[in-house]
Amino acid sequence: MDEEVEKLQWLNSIVPVVAHQLRLPQSEVKFILHAEKSCLAYTDYRNSIPEINLSLDYLEVDIVSHEICHGLVYSPYLFISEGLAGFIGCLNSNNCAHLLFNSKNLSDIIFEFQGELPCLSSFIYQRVNHQGLLSPSRFTDIEGRLAHVIASSVMEFCVQKYENFSISLLKQGNAKLGDVFIHTTGRPLLGVLAEWREYIGLEICPLSDVAN
Ligand SMILES: [Zn+2]
Repeated sequence: MDEEVEKLQWLNSIVPVVAHQLRLPQSEVKFILHAEKSCLAYTDYRNSIPEINLSLDYLEVDIVSHEICHGLVYSPYLFISEGLAGFIGCLNSNNCAHLLFNSKNLSDIIFEFQGELPCLSSFIYQRVNHQGLLSPSRFTDIEGRLAHVIASSVMEFCVQKYENFSISLLKQGNAKLGDVFIHTTGRPLLGVLAEWREYIGLEICPLSDVAN
């Protein structure tokens, strides 16, 4: 079989896995494989079917699952979109290598770096294409990486605790972040974050400067 056809089959086989992990019905995504560029992974939403662009030489299961998650669910808030994709990438590789940590799971990273975690209020409202700790340009510095870990951990908690979280996200459009949480969990943002801290078991990330 042609190598590219084989890779496309493998990619398509991961879509229902990620949909199931997100508790979403499967929807269509299209893969575009690039031979000429290395380390390329992004999702293009300009057409009705999201187009997942990947380098042929960069098809690791965590990167691929991360990008499929972006294809299945979009949020204008990076905390939600990168958080979900980070959580799914870690889940499918059984480690956090794609977030540039050696640990096996997100909670272990939070425990290890508990004294260095950035304030939630400094990145929780960051929108797609706006600058901040969840921007691709900050991904290699420790603060940016830890912001991705916190977002991923909160999204892991939300998907596990709230059955309709991802499917409700699909209907949120450009709603304010506080309204997104009310509609997806039935709880205010601060309430969900307080539940998440209990789930982690650490008094981390003060919530006093996060508005509902
Ligand atoms: Zn991403």
